Amino acid sequence: MGSVVALVDGFRTSPARRTRRTGQTSLTRLTGEMNYEDENEKGPDMTMQILHPPESLDHAPVWLGEMIEWAHALGATDVHLFPSTDGGRLWVRLNGDLQEICSYSVDLHTRMVSRLKVLGRCTDYTGAPIQEGRFGLNGVSRGGEARLSIIPTLQGEKAVIRLLAGENRKLELDQLGFGEELRSALRSAMDLPQGLLLAVAPSGCGKSTALYALLADLHARQSRPVSIVTLEDPVEQSLPFAAQVNIEAERGLTFGAGLRAILRQDPEVILIGEIRDAETSRAALEAALTGHRILSSMHTLNAAEALARLMQMGSPPYIIASALAGILNVRLLRLCCEHCKTARTPEPLEAERMRRMLGQTPEKIAATKGCERCLDSGVGGRTGVGEWLTPTAAMPQALGEGRPTPEIQKTLRIVASAQQEIMRLLTDLQIAPMELAQLTGMSSLETPPSGECES
Ligand SMILES: [Zn+2]
Repeated sequence: MGSVVALVDGFRTSPARRTRRTGQTSLTRLTGEMNYEDENEKGPDMTMQILHPPESLDHAPVWLGEMIEWAHALGATDVHLFPSTDGGRLWVRLNGDLQEICSYSVDLHTRMVSRLKVLGRCTDYTGAPIQEGRFGLNGVSRGGEARLSIIPTLQGEKAVIRLLAGENRKLELDQLGFGEELRSALRSAMDLPQGLLLAVAPSGCGKSTALYALLADLHARQSRPVSIVTLEDPVEQSLPFAAQVNIEAERGLTFGAGLRAILRQDPEVILIGEIRDAETSRAALEAALTGHRILSSMHTLNAAEALARLMQMGSPPYIIASALAGILNVRLLRLCCEHCKTARTPEPLEAERMRRMLGQTPEKIAATKGCERCLDSGVGGRTGVGEWLTPTAAMPQALGEGRPTPEIQKTLRIVASAQQEIMRLLTDLQIAPMELAQLTGMSSLETPPSGECES
């Protein structure tokens, strides 16, 4: 049962309780299409049933629905049905890591993929090799949605179900875990009349959540209406205060085309899910220079890489420098389980690493041994940390000369550092030192304490 332990990694609510509650109540509301005739026979220990595939093919559709709902309740972002020559494997992605739930027969795999095609209302569930669809999730977050993608492989059809949060998920800037300095810098940037606010991080590190929270915060602070429009691929969460547009590239609704159309409607704030091509980057920078607040994200490890990427996409350095309000570099760190954490003295190597990254070493650090409440994972949720960087006058030249990223990094000013916040998390025994590995690419931790970039 090693997978049970790994599965609950990183969630604040006791996973065992959530799972049981899910098993008894919300499962019935999954998609409205599932057959729940044996609902009353479900015992309280749904977890055990869910972690084992059904013995009969006839139970496959119900089991699959329960599995998806269960994964969503745990906070998983994706469910994978991975084909292999001797059967299928079911994986879920939690905190960015795939975890195997179980393996099952080829027949069961085929049956479940067919069921998904029906659920996702795939246009042709017999013929087309690549299929996409979607279906609603109503159990844990009202308005939650599952996006289905099926591709043919030599071993069989591979299905991935992306689980998107519904409107019940709370989005508050003050709840993300950011320090006061960072929140205040972000609010000031959101109050600027125009400019591009770029969130950067590797995939699954909280960029979208941070951007959504910034929009929610801006909306909450205004007494007058603000015209907020989002362009996303796909819309990850429904926002009651924004007009959200889903990218449909196959029908010509690309980021670039969508943005041009949106700009004709005179919006004040635009969230562009991600800048990934020249057309989007050019349109985003132009909009940010002509009286619009643009929020967007890029999948890079650090701020300098994002700037270099914008350059490679053909945007001139002076345009980037004048359009850019600042860069938020964000990460998610796993919190220690409150119920089983203890304090210990750091090992010499750990102490040295902390001194190098943070300029000091806490006397005591957290250790977890795992307990019933965290199902032996030692993890009790996640918190966001971030830094805010703004361009200096030296940036356009460094970009234009194609200098290496460490040099470009030095032309950014660290307005809000992550250092103090991380030191606080360590000394308060909220995170273990191993979480420091997540912080690669954060400028405020790679600058020596006496460095010129200290703000
Ligand atoms: Zn614990």
